[in-house]
Formats: sequence, C-alpha cells, structure tokens
Amino acid sequence: MIPSYNGQIMMTYRCSAACRHCLVMAAPDQDDALVSVGAAVEYGLDFAALGRAVLIAGGEALLYFEHVLSVVRALAAVGVPVAFIESNGSWCVSDALTRERLAKLQDAGVRGMYFSVDRYHQEFVPAERVYRGISIAWELFGRDNVIPERLSWEYVREAERLAQGPELLQCDPGHGVHFVGRAAVDLAPRAALVPLDQLLTQDCRADWEVDKLHEIQVDPFGFVRPDWCPGVNLGNTRSGRIADLCHTRHVQQTPLLRDIAAQGPAALLPLAERYAITPGPSYASRCHLCFDLRRQLVQHMPEEFGPPQVYQVTGRCR
Ligand code: SF4
Repeated sequence: MIPSYNGQIMMTYRCSAACRHCLVMAAPDQDDALVSVGAAVEYGLDFAALGRAVLIAGGEALLYFEHVLSVVRALAAVGVPVAFIESNGSWCVSDALTRERLAKLQDAGVRGMYFSVDRYHQEFVPAERVYRGISIAWELFGRDNVIPERLSWEYVREAERLAQGPELLQCDPGHGVHFVGRAAVDLAPRAALVPLDQLLTQDCRADWEVDKLHEIQVDPFGFVRPDWCPGVNLGNTRSGRIADLCHTRHVQQTPLLRDIAAQGPAALLPLAERYAITPGPSYASRCHLCFDLRRQLVQHMPEEFGPPQVYQVTGRCR
C-alpha cells in the first residue's frame, strides 16, 4: 500500500532508539526541534501539488503524539490526508494505550501505519511492543494499510534475539544498510572496504533523478533532500518552496548538485582540497566516502550539506 511517490515530513531528529543503521543519526539525545503545524501544512500542500503522498516520520514522531495529531488534523482540513506514519512502536506499552492512540490518528485522517522491525530497532524496542502496535493496527486500519502487512511473532522475536548477539554488529544482508549517518560510523568499519580510486568512478545519476525518486524528505530545519542522501540538499524551505525545489531540472540548474549527480563523490574532492580535507584510502561505499567528506565540509558549507545534526555522533556508536 505504500504509494509510489512520497513526500516525507520528518517531524524530529529525536527518537526513543539510536539504531546502528540510522541514516539521520536519530537518538534520544538529538536536537528537539519539531516541524510546526503551519510548516507541515505548507509542506503537505507542496508535496500534494507534486503528486506525492504525505507521510510523517522521524526520529520517532509519536514521541510527540499530541503535536502529530494536530498536524494530521491541520493537513486533513486543507484536503491533504496523511498516507501513513512511520514508527518504531516503542510507545505501544499496553493494548489500551495503543488502541486509543491509533484510533485517534485514524479518526484524524491517517490512512495507514508503517512499523520498523529489524535487528537494529530491536536492540532498543522490545519485540512485544512493536508486535502489539502492528497487530492492533491490522485490526483498525486493515492489513492492506499496514507495513508489514504480514509478520509472525517468531520473526520479531528472532530480530530481538539477533539484537543481543554478534550479528548486531554486522550488516544485515537482508536490510540493505546504507552507509551514511550512524551506519557510516558504526557499521561501515566492519564492512568490506573498497579502494578510493574505484569509488571515485561511481556517479549518482539515478539518485538525483528527483522527479522519479520514491521519497523526498523535509527535516525540522527546512532542509529538503532525497531521503537516501540526508545532508545533500535540494535547498531549504527558508528560501524556496518544496514545489519548486523537488524537480530534476532544479538539480540540473544547480552546479554543485549537477556535478554530484554526474560525478558522484568525486565532485566533492575540489571542495575537500580547498579546506585541506584528505579522504581516506578506502570506504564501505561511495555514500560512505560522500558522508565522510561532507561531515568535514558542513562547517564551511552549512546550506549545501547541513544540518550538523545528521553528522553528530549520538546514541551508542561504538
Ligand atoms: S554518494 Fe552522496 S549524493 Fe550520491 S547517492 Fe550517496 S549520499 Fe547521495
């Protein structure tokens, strides 16, 4: 039931978990900035104008349940339904509370729920809580409107078991770990490394065909980006509208983005040289290299590569 084209309102960087594969470094001690109700309405209208379904995510957006409820109601009032909310289910501490909150969200206009289940999330979220959330969401929204649509209790318990063993520190081959954010810090050092010269031949054309991208994300500071590339910005809502920024033609008209699409992280090398930043000899992937260079460039280029929150080591990185 996930729509083909989404616009994600990333409500917060704060989270009840600090997963090792998290692209945006979400954590309990992250910045507590929130997308306001007014900004969410503007973003929702712009995403809808682009033909994108609106979803709400974080961090863990439902840490701020009443605020999210207000956002959903305000969006519904302007004719923009929330297709689904992503959650880790950490708040599903009892049947009564879970049912009450999911019913309120549904009444307000939310059409579905997406619960995260894997070994990284289950390091922080008890299996029993997320399975409760999924099971009650199946009842209220119907299985067609819940991700995962089908899932056994044994699967969730197995994720919890893996979260306690050495498998936790390895990349989950079934999960497609993307080496940016905490995954670049926590998981990449244990992955097979590729020499720098090989990575510098890889481009990012497909990642910047913005018109065709499954998901575009706007964060609490107004940064707009492909959800795959937190910290590489199409722009900021302080100075532009999502409806204008989220196009392939905008990438082609913006020299830095055009170069990144055409050359991949090699496009960052002249910038790195300008600021005396030297890349390492090998990385887990081109995105790991890109993240490492941007982590050092962001202080010089905050609009292009911000916010600093996506690079700050938070939570329990080892
Ligand atoms: S290398 Fe950088 S810009 Fe290219 S897809 Fe990866 S994170 Fe995005």
